[in-house]
Amino acid sequence: MCGIVGYIGYEQAAPFLLKGLEKLQYRGYDSAGVCTNDDGKLVVQKEKGKLDELKNVTDDGKNIKGTVGIGHTRWATHGKPSEINAHPHLSESGSFAVVHNGIIENYMPLKQFLTEKGMSFRSMTDTEVVVQLLEYYYEGDLLGTVLKVAAMLEGSYALAIMYKGNADEIIAVRKGSPLVIGIGKEENYLASDIPAILEKTRNIYRLENGEVAVIRRDSVQIMDYDRNPVQKSIERINWDIHAAQKDGYEHFMLKEIFEQPKAVRDTVETRIKNGRVVLEEVTLTPEQIRQFQKINIVACGSAYHVGVVAKYIFERILRKPVEVDVASEFKYRDPIIDSKTLTVVISQSGETADTKEAMLEAKRHGSHTIAIVNVVGSAIACEADDVIYTLAGPEIAVATTKAYSAQLAVIYMMAVCFGDILGTISETDYQTYVTELLALPDKIQSILAQSESLKNIASKMFACKDAFFIGRNIDYALSLEGSLKLKEISYIHSEAYAAGELKHGTISLIEEGTLVIALVTYGNLFDKIASNIKEVQTRGAYVLGIGSEEHPELRNITQSSFLIPKTCNMMLPSLAVIPMQLLAYYMAKFKGCDIDTPRNLAKSVTVE
Ligand code: GLU
Repeated sequence: MCGIVGYIGYEQAAPFLLKGLEKLQYRGYDSAGVCTNDDGKLVVQKEKGKLDELKNVTDDGKNIKGTVGIGHTRWATHGKPSEINAHPHLSESGSFAVVHNGIIENYMPLKQFLTEKGMSFRSMTDTEVVVQLLEYYYEGDLLGTVLKVAAMLEGSYALAIMYKGNADEIIAVRKGSPLVIGIGKEENYLASDIPAILEKTRNIYRLENGEVAVIRRDSVQIMDYDRNPVQKSIERINWDIHAAQKDGYEHFMLKEIFEQPKAVRDTVETRIKNGRVVLEEVTLTPEQIRQFQKINIVACGSAYHVGVVAKYIFERILRKPVEVDVASEFKYRDPIIDSKTLTVVISQSGETADTKEAMLEAKRHGSHTIAIVNVVGSAIACEADDVIYTLAGPEIAVATTKAYSAQLAVIYMMAVCFGDILGTISETDYQTYVTELLALPDKIQSILAQSESLKNIASKMFACKDAFFIGRNIDYALSLEGSLKLKEISYIHSEAYAAGELKHGTISLIEEGTLVIALVTYGNLFDKIASNIKEVQTRGAYVLGIGSEEHPELRNITQSSFLIPKTCNMMLPSLAVIPMQLLAYYMAKFKGCDIDTPRNLAKSVTVE
């Protein structure tokens, strides 16, 4: 997530830092800051909002002295966007400065430990524990202290660290979040992504997980956490800046599709503690959870489709009735809702006006609201009674992929956590769910590794005019998302249908060459959907079947097929959605569509 830059040389650092941050803006951010070492004093300037604010107050960095510095664009995960929460963070006495990308999962016990030792905290971030730990443990060996602190951190991080008594070094350390080091002449650079330094140099080292770099004006030393030197050869970057922004992918959408293992992992792993799903954000007592008589889910677009999946899951696992509404319709149907109703709202941006209005309507009726939101501090996050953040990172492409997957992951965790409280799942099932939750990222990865086969299918089918996505049960819920993904970016007319419903009318639209994507992940309904596949094939349809590897016989009854790994029924959507996203992407690409910004659509819809 977001951006780090660093500079050490003989020029003024801040102007370069600001320019570098500008090149990282595409990654999304909510605040920005820089820190330099000005004659033994760490000077910090940070601002909430756009980088222009920071550029204005510092005269493009010219007001800030010092030839060594670090900069950051923050995309809040812990603590709302604000000047205090913006990075760089200084330690209590101002002797250390840190910028951080990622999430320190164990920041709470570390914060408690430091508070008990008498240290006080200014921000709400997870990051501040890092800089305070450095100050707490520092006894003269800078690198040693960094390594000691790094070993205490759980989660993901890219860190750039400065110490006021040493204006000749920046220390960078990485686990999970990316960092590259640019090599210059009598100056060196650091960044979380190549575009930030491309104007200065094309020669880089990539820091790998578990590596630390000591960056000086005339040298870069890279080693592992045990101080064993790591020999690296210099990588020469030949891409232009636009390719670099997308990490070599042709579109942000494709990049984000491939970021899904990380989005799901970050969203899940922070909430599984000692084998239990812990949703600390939910303030409801077990008693309150037991007293809800029904659950209402309200959302728009893909988030609404997550809601439809959630209906199947919550009803099956929690044994409570669930209603799902398109947010723009909710308030006008005079819903029956009161304090015995739990309302769940879902929105990537947290700014979706329809969803926010629906949530406020639910609150007016005395319903407790839980928001599932990706953007920290957004309007919905601020107004909801509780907010469970998806940790998908900024999503740039208009068509959602990784936020959808992260939202699904939150739904599974709510089902497991609430099911445990309600006593509707057995301990054995609980254990299976937790194991499967943790295994999801690798299974998604294994599907992504087969993206070529979907590209091949798309190359044959991209000229089709109509497509139908069919499925039963949770596969039907999922087909809604597959269909939306295809039509919103490729402009191919597409509809999702409950497979059994097609024959009650819509089957008249099936003709020679119509594309039908049949979702058959749900094992016990295999025979039923096999009949529906036959019905459309008889009328000329070309059927792509997406099913579980437990049912390889799908290959025999469809013209093309894609098999996903085995998982528990509840989590099948997380795997089956991936081939549908890839199919939509490649169909749109072969058609030459504007994939990242499809016509007439906006990423965050802030009007009703
Ligand atoms: N978790 C940190 C925060 O919320 C860093 C976020 C980022 O990567 O920008 O401040």
